[in-house]
Amino acid sequence: MKPLTLALAKGRILEDTLPLLERIGVRPQQDLTRTRELRIAAEGPVGALLIVRSSDVPTYVEHGAAQLGIAGKDVLREHGSGTLYEPLDLNIARCRLCVAAPVGWQPPQRRRWRIATKYVQQARDYFAERGQQVEIIKLYGSMELAPLVGLADAIVDLVDTGNTLKANGLEPIAEINSISSRLIVNKAAMKLQAVAIREFTAALEAQLAR
Ligand code: AMP
Repeated sequence: MKPLTLALAKGRILEDTLPLLERIGVRPQQDLTRTRELRIAAEGPVGALLIVRSSDVPTYVEHGAAQLGIAGKDVLREHGSGTLYEPLDLNIARCRLCVAAPVGWQPPQRRRWRIATKYVQQARDYFAERGQQVEIIKLYGSMELAPLVGLADAIVDLVDTGNTLKANGLEPIAEINSISSRLIVNKAAMKLQAVAIREFTAALEAQLAR
């Protein structure tokens, strides 16, 4: 049977996930925080790790390039998760998806609010549910800058400690969702490699319960 491949993103998720993977016996053959290689062989319950951009993790898993992945709920909501199984909340890389605006911001009355975000779908849904007319400005990062330079009125972004918002004169004005990382599984692999995937999921679950 083909060994399992796990797709992961660098950054917070990798930092929080590596100790957990170690405890269930996943042994990458290289130091993931240093190597420039993007596919790293491993010993233990998975045979390889793929290091990809966080927003690409669901795509690799959906198409079966990896049977397993770990992705934030923010990324999964944006991707649309009907094409994947999501069997386990790992409760790591926890944060909140928030609307944030300059401290003391007065919402414009006579025009649409301009919202900068990379979470276009979730921002659109959130404001549509409230009947608030907005113009979404798609950015790929550093959203906190947009209100400072007049590109947007407010932003939709992930907030953990709130320090990044504070450093840029912003504050959260609404919480859209709470976020944590999830294990995701390719649908076909869930049938074809059911035993290995169930064992992997159970091992992770047992670690989380400790
Ligand atoms: P903080 O200053 O602790 O509130 O962190 C906010 C910054 O970190 C923002 O730029 C967020 O996009 C990013 N961030 C916070 N939590 C996460 C997470 N769980 N995954 C990815 N990025 C995050």
